[in-house]
Amino acid sequence: MTPIADNLDKLRSRIRKAVQACGRNPETVRLVAVSKTFPAETVREAIAAGQNVFGENYIQEAVKKTAILSSLPVSWHFIGHLQTNKAGHAVRIFDLIHSVDSIHLGEELNRQAKKISKVQKILIQVNTGQEDTKSGVCADDVPGLINELKRFENISIQGLMTLPPFFDDPQRAYPYFSALHELSDQIRRENPHRVEMKELSMGMTGDFEVAIKAGATLLRVGTAVFGKRNGGDR
Ligand SMILES: *Cc1c(COP(=O)(O)O)cnc(C)c1O
Repeated sequence: MTPIADNLDKLRSRIRKAVQACGRNPETVRLVAVSKTFPAETVREAIAAGQNVFGENYIQEAVKKTAILSSLPVSWHFIGHLQTNKAGHAVRIFDLIHSVDSIHLGEELNRQAKKISKVQKILIQVNTGQEDTKSGVCADDVPGLINELKRFENISIQGLMTLPPFFDDPQRAYPYFSALHELSDQIRRENPHRVEMKELSMGMTGDFEVAIKAGATLLRVGTAVFGKRNGGDR
């Protein structure tokens, strides 16, 4: 077994345990293996070990990596901050963009997706901790943003994403995850049309078990799959 296959094995069993512990259906929780900074060859190892959804943060890096791996049946998700001028690349590569946080970006994704006759699936990134340093819209502004975005026919809102403040004790992230869950329930009640609200993207290596308990459907886990990243995050 390669080290990555071994990591995936251990991670899957931790996910399974956490899902069972709160009585959820295992099919409602998917792992997005965050492969940012790792080369295509490393991703290939994870694919060989049965992983088929990967998360990337940087467009230039993703353009190269996905080209190398284009013959393989994998789904790519974008989880980083997306600049409007990269929207054209993004719609060509990614099945799901987790980080939409403005009308301007949604409008540009809609325009670029239309050009290639695609309906781009997106999530709204919510800054649940109201931190100045993080991207995302604050919770109060999410219903308004969704109201604006839902008229764009080439994007489809699938749910919400958050990156809570960092805590040494992961339990302290629970209220933030839980707030995202409540917000998604509220939006679902208000928007029966064109807004699915079926995905909650939350939980990383340090806190995915807590996120599962709060209702996460997409776990974005990097370090527990690939090991520590060199040079940190750009
Ligand atoms: C890097 C990153 C992750 C993965 O973090 P790990 O702690 O390595 O699991 C998840 N979400 C986002 C938005 C990231 O940038």
